[in-house]
Formats: sequence, C-alpha cells, structure tokens
Amino acid sequence: MRIGVIGGGASGMMAAITAARAGAQVTIIEHTARVGKKILSTGNGKCNFTNQNLSKGDYNGNHPSFAEPALKVFDNQKTLLFFEDCGMAVTCKRDGYYYPHSGQASTLLNVLRFQLDVLNIRIETECYIDTIQKKDGKFYLGGREKKFVFDKLILACGGNAAPATGSDGSGYKLAKMLGHRIVKPLPVLTYVRSKDACLKELAGVRAGAQVSLYVDGTLIQTEEGELQLNKDNVSGIPVFQFSHAAIRALDQKKKVAVVIDFLPHEDIEFLLNKMENHLKIIYNNIPASEVFSAIVNKKVSQAIFRRASVPFDKEMGKLSQKELGRVVSLIKAFPLEVCSYPGFEAAQATMGGVDTNEINPHTMMSEKVEGLYFAGEIMDIDGRCGGYNLQWAWSSGYVAGCHSAAGEVTCYESINVK
Ligand SMILES: Cc1cc2nc3c(=O)[nH]c(=O)nc-3n(C[C@H](O)[C@H](O)[C@H](O)COP(=O)(O)OP(=O)(O)OC[C@H]3O[C@@H](n4cnc5c(N)ncnc54)[C@H](O)[C@@H]3O)c2cc1C
Repeated sequence: MRIGVIGGGASGMMAAITAARAGAQVTIIEHTARVGKKILSTGNGKCNFTNQNLSKGDYNGNHPSFAEPALKVFDNQKTLLFFEDCGMAVTCKRDGYYYPHSGQASTLLNVLRFQLDVLNIRIETECYIDTIQKKDGKFYLGGREKKFVFDKLILACGGNAAPATGSDGSGYKLAKMLGHRIVKPLPVLTYVRSKDACLKELAGVRAGAQVSLYVDGTLIQTEEGELQLNKDNVSGIPVFQFSHAAIRALDQKKKVAVVIDFLPHEDIEFLLNKMENHLKIIYNNIPASEVFSAIVNKKVSQAIFRRASVPFDKEMGKLSQKELGRVVSLIKAFPLEVCSYPGFEAAQATMGGVDTNEINPHTMMSEKVEGLYFAGEIMDIDGRCGGYNLQWAWSSGYVAGCHSAAGEVTCYESINVK
C-alpha cells in the first residue's frame, strides 16, 4: 500500500507515522524546506501539545461534533502515551497545559523526525503539487519537478494561519480540485482591533481580568485570564478564547464589543461599600485616582477616571456618590467597541476549511473520493487555546493514518519495549 501525505506538519507527520506503523509505504510531500516548521513556534517555543482537560466543547466549526470520534479514539492520554513511547519526557503546567519537559518545542519535533526516520518514511521537501487526478483507483500527482502515484492520499496541508510556516492555504485548492467545498477560512486565536482613544493611554497594560464578548448587544462568551492592551488592539488568552465568535461576527458585519471586568473576584456592592466606608475615610485628602491605583493598574485607573469625567486629582473624600458609582462601575464593566481583526499572519489557527459534512468523522475519509483522507487544521475544526489544536492534529492524523493503511481504526498500541 503506497500512501502519500501532502503536508509535513503535526497532523501529516502523525498520519504518516501511524500509516507506516500499520505497514504502509509512506511518502510525505512538503513544499517548504523542512517538516514541522510551525511546531517550533507553538506555545511560545515550548509547544503546548495537549491538555489534561479535553472535551468536544473545546472545538468550534460548522459541525463541532465532527471532531468527537477522533478525539475519543486518540485522546489526550493516548497523545501522552504516544510521545512517551517516542522517548519524550512530558510535563504538565498550570491549567493542565502539557509541554515537553525540556521546555523546547524542538524536542517534540525531533522525536517525530526520529520516528519518520526509523519507519523509513520518504520525505520530499521543496516539492510542489499542482495537479491531482484519481484514475483507476489511484492518485496521480503532478508537481513542478516530480510526479507521484499513490493508492491512498492524505491532505494535511494545514489552514492559512502563520503562512510563513508553509500553511499558505494552497491545501484548499487541492481539496477543491478533488471536488470538496471550503467553508470560508478566517483567522482565529488572535487579537481584535479597537479604535477607542483610551487604548493610547492603556497601551502596555497586562492585567488579570474577565472579558465578555457582546455581539449586537447580546452576551456571547465570558473568559478570564491575562488581558493585554495595546495601542490599537485587545489581546491575551481571554481574547483568543472568544476570537472565533468575535471574528465570525465581524465578518458578518455585526456589532462587536468587549466589556472588561478589571476586578472579577469582587462584586460591585462590596467595592462601593469599601470605598465609601473605609478608603474615603482613611485617605480623605489623597487624590482618588491614586487610591484606585492600589486596586487596579495605574494606567487603568487613569483611563477610568477620564471616562467617568472625574478629575484625577480630586480628593478621595470629595468624591460624590455618583462619581464613585461611575468609577466603580467602570472597574467592573469597561466597554470597548471592536472594529476589525488582523490577517492570517497574526493568527495561531484558521477557522473554516474543508467542509466536514463531506468527510466521515470515524475514518477521516472523504465522502466524495474513495481513498482520499484529511488530517488537521485543513478541515473546518478549530480548537481553543491550550493545546487543543495540536491535539486535533494528533487525533485526526492518527485516524487518517490508521484507516488509510489498515482499512479500520484500531486503538493506539503502545510501542513501549517492556
Ligand atoms: C504562533 C503559533 C503558536 C501556536 N501554539 C500552539 C500551541 O501551543 N498549542 C496548540 O495546540 N496549537 C498551537 N498552534 C496551532 C497549531 O500549531 C496548529 O493548529 C497545528 O500545527 C496544525 O497542524 P497541521 O499539520 O494541520 O498544519 P501545519 O502545522 O500548518 O502543517 C501543514 C504543513 O503542510 C505544508 N503544506 C501546506 N500546503 C502544502 C502544499 N500545497 N504542498 C505541500 N505541503 C504543503 C506546510 O508547509 C506545513 O508544513 C499555534 C500556531 C501558531 C501559528
């Protein structure tokens, strides 16, 4: 059985390794100079490759439940076992994020490359495929320099995010050539832009906060974590986590806003009471914006006073109840209108891609072309921040590799030598 895998990223390597372990003769066709380039930049160079907590709710797409069977068959535990079998020590950090113990993404890429090597997987780099044809049960691939014939073909070209790493969207053209429909690709796991003038003075702030996303005035999602404010955008993990819904809504020309709670663990009545009955008394003559700087970041305090139309230097004891109410309300709910989102170069993943209605979720095989499979981000599935996108690459790559080589999807077998 000759299997061709187009794309030497996380999902393509997993599919190739799985298919080769099942006895297939595998070739990876990669159009950049090396395999796994994107892996090196994941998790800030440390590679957050899976998460302790995994459920179908961690994934988005037109049909998010499509991801469920593959995530069940090759889940986070199987992922840990797979990489431990490959010789990689792993470590779990806060929030259940898993990394190579070395703290280096290159470790994970190296163990995958060792596997490609020991399994004699052929790697064709700097190889461009322009045409694919299915004839007499075989796939004929035409490239600029080379031609290939395979019995089965796995498309693992990634999406469009971080195109400098090789995922330039050309995989969608190949999928279309084979008759597949593409759900409009958009960037995800990225920041959102705002033209609000207050961001000029808030630029550089990093603060623990709860951030809520509103679309056309309706609360859609609330996330907590470290928020990063920049001169023209709002970033950080909580924003990444709702970027799917925000960007989809912006693309549909809906009105998008974020509301920041800079003190999520204290309620408004408690704060008002503390100000009125304690801080106003002990800090009677101190400028109120300074007193609030002990509660939130100084730049945040000043932006809130400006927006509440309260002078920075007004003494704490002279704040009226209304002024205090306005300031405290803004600490708990600071609204910013969102106007746009950046391009794919600033995104960690792609939403949209090959329509999952046309793929069998149990095998990753195309419903349109027998013997054609998909793996990873090329499909219309995207995960939350926290190792979920790589987990999708491992799970879908495992299923595609297994089924293409063996005709069935079996439970992952450890290769650990006892
Ligand atoms: C900066 C950054 C940080 C990230 N951090 C994390 C993280 O910590 N945890 C996490 O889970 N996810 C993270 N991700 C997302 C994750 O890296 C991807 O979801 C995952 O790598 C997708 O794997 P893939 O194999 O489907 O696609 P890719 O990794 O994009 O691989 C696709 C491969 O196919 C090749 N290719 C494309 N088109 C063709 C073609 N026509 N012919 C031949 N080859 C082709 C590309 O060159 C590439 O090598 C991050 C992404 C970025 C950009």
